Amino acid sequence: MPIRLYVAATALLAATLVVALAQTSEGDLLERAWLTALFAALLALEHPFEIRLARRGHGESTSNEEAIFAAMVFLTSPLAVVLAIAAGFAAGNVILRRTPLKGIFNVSAMVLAAAAGLLVVEALGGAREADLAAALAVVAGAAVYEAVNRVTVAGALAVAGAADVRTTLRDDLGGRTLIALGNVSVGLLTGLAAAHDLWTLPIGLAAMVALQFALSGHMRARAERQKLADIVASSWDGIVTLDRHDRVTSWNPASEALTGYAAERIIGLPFDEVFRLVNAESDPAAHSAHEQVSAFRIRPANDDARWVAVSRAPLPEGGSVLVLHDQSAQREIDEMRQKQEREQMRADFVASVSHELRTPLTSILGFADTLLTHGSSDGDRRRYVEIIRDEGERLRRLIDALLDLRQLGEGTKGSKQDVVDIAELLEEQVERFSERTSGHELVLDLTGRPLVVVGERGRLEQVVVNLISNAIKYSPAGGEVTVRGEREDGTVQVGVTDRGLGIPAAQQEQIFAKFFRVDAPDRDAISGSGLGLALAREIVEAHGGAIGFESTEGRGSTFHFRLPAA
Ligand code: ADP
Repeated sequence: MPIRLYVAATALLAATLVVALAQTSEGDLLERAWLTALFAALLALEHPFEIRLARRGHGESTSNEEAIFAAMVFLTSPLAVVLAIAAGFAAGNVILRRTPLKGIFNVSAMVLAAAAGLLVVEALGGAREADLAAALAVVAGAAVYEAVNRVTVAGALAVAGAADVRTTLRDDLGGRTLIALGNVSVGLLTGLAAAHDLWTLPIGLAAMVALQFALSGHMRARAERQKLADIVASSWDGIVTLDRHDRVTSWNPASEALTGYAAERIIGLPFDEVFRLVNAESDPAAHSAHEQVSAFRIRPANDDARWVAVSRAPLPEGGSVLVLHDQSAQREIDEMRQKQEREQMRADFVASVSHELRTPLTSILGFADTLLTHGSSDGDRRRYVEIIRDEGERLRRLIDALLDLRQLGEGTKGSKQDVVDIAELLEEQVERFSERTSGHELVLDLTGRPLVVVGERGRLEQVVVNLISNAIKYSPAGGEVTVRGEREDGTVQVGVTDRGLGIPAAQQEQIFAKFFRVDAPDRDAISGSGLGLALAREIVEAHGGAIGFESTEGRGSTFHFRLPAA
């Protein structure tokens, strides 16, 4: 409600001053009515082009009413001047569809300022003579006009809670004074010239309009700057600008909130020092491909550690702008999710292990029972015992693989450092597998021997065995399996190529994960634990090498690994 009261008071004061003006001046309202209409129309039509400076939803607008005030005083009665200003602003507010309250305030404030200015002009002898004394009286009147106008607007903004009176009055004082000076001078010249020769009036009006547009450029630039400043100030992300020497030139409120350091403390410091101040530790895992975004853990002045993503972009005029984005909440969520995933993986792991152990165990127990309870022929008995042995063997392999994985996962490096000839190892295994399989043709392709590496022979053999046995296992229709060994750039490379089932593209990413088995109907009948490749990767990596593959579903796969040559 106070704003309504304020508007009412302004209107009342304006009316009082107009009454006082009507009594002190010999006012003929209709004197040169066309002039009043002309100036009113000019003021109204300039409204859509006026410049607004916003302050928290409220704002000030500027136009060239001082110029019109100064010009008119010489040409018509004081009351007609007030009438032109009142009518021009009323129409302008209608054009801009301002709320009635704002419209009433605008008109009242303008009338109040104009009436106050005109009272001063009248007190100083009036302006109708259009001489030096009149000109001085108009300058004084215009100054009062301007002052009253500014104070009334500042009061309204303060009552509306948008800005305190001092801030509004001081805001761009230099720029505004310059604009007022320009406007009053042009108004003065137009009024004086037209008072002597009316035909000069259009020239003066043209100058007034041109000046209004030229000066409004200043206000528009300010408005743009203010808008930008408002955006930066209200951003949730920290926005920091640095000069060419990486010194902080601006530090927005969000940066203050994020780090606990106020702008006064930070501006001027080299950014490296700011980083030290907030104990920033970089997260090497979180550097983007372009090195433009990186994550840091900071310890703000009096707060818990936070994760901040910093992105940097160069500014056209030199220097750069940094955006600091608080990632703490996102990190917490991610960590929780990762923890859940780890727990889920552990649960899956236990379930898979139990399942994998139970399958051979069930057949061992089944055949052992059969042996105990049923009389069988010698031939059958031998077969059962063989099955029991094979299943026992499978069980042992599984347990070995699990233990190996654990050992390798814990980083217990094999103590043995044999000199291993990979060529020899491949030869041995190709021969061994050739004997075991009938549907596959194993081809060994060795270029250059020996292919020597240093490491654990048993482990490296595990890798080769695993890759060849997979190639055979996942080529149920048979076909050629090529095992290649060669030396390249100080490494020994091994490749195993098959023409089997291949791996669906969508599942290729997980292929080295523990217990991961491709989920596809064509390999339902093929048994396995999903540990072979996981183990192979651990072993190759523990030897300082790398493992990979290429595969096309339905066409076949090539698994390859590379080890540093001895
Ligand atoms: P598994 O004991 O199931 O063979 P691995 O870890 O050795 O476990 O392999 C994981 C999965 O990768 C397998 O289930 C299989 O589907 C797929 N795979 C591995 N090697 C090949 C290959 N040469 N061709 C097609 N699929 C393969």
